Amino acid sequence: MNETIFDRILRRELPAEVVYEDDTILAFKDINAQAPVHILVIPKNKWVSFNDLQEADNHKVGEFIRGVSKVAKKVTDGDGYRIVFNVGEHGQQTVNYLHAHIIGGRQLNWPPG
Ligand code: 5GP
Repeated sequence: MNETIFDRILRRELPAEVVYEDDTILAFKDINAQAPVHILVIPKNKWVSFNDLQEADNHKVGEFIRGVSKVAKKVTDGDGYRIVFNVGEHGQQTVNYLHAHIIGGRQLNWPPG
């Protein structure tokens, strides 16, 4: 499994603006924010891609998604937000460590680009 920048952030080898951490997730500000709120949430149990989730992972997936929900409520203002998982080439995933984007703090448009 190839090392990514997020493995290094998780090990605190690279700096990041961490907004939340517990036993299962780490949440930090995206370095290239696309909105006033743009947080990345990674599971401490690494998956490379959304495609890699297996039935055996159900409990850990549940913990991760609950963690994303907890962080999203903490960092947004009650007016809503968007959760994005980019997957593969068409999804423009650039970091091969599964992560959720929490994007908010302004009116978002639909459809996305
Ligand atoms: P992806 O396109 O893979 O879904 O998103 C990767 C995200 O990671 C991008 O939004 C990018 O700005 C962010 N990112 C890339 N390198 C770093 C970094 O070193 N630190 C932080 N905080 N975010 C990063």
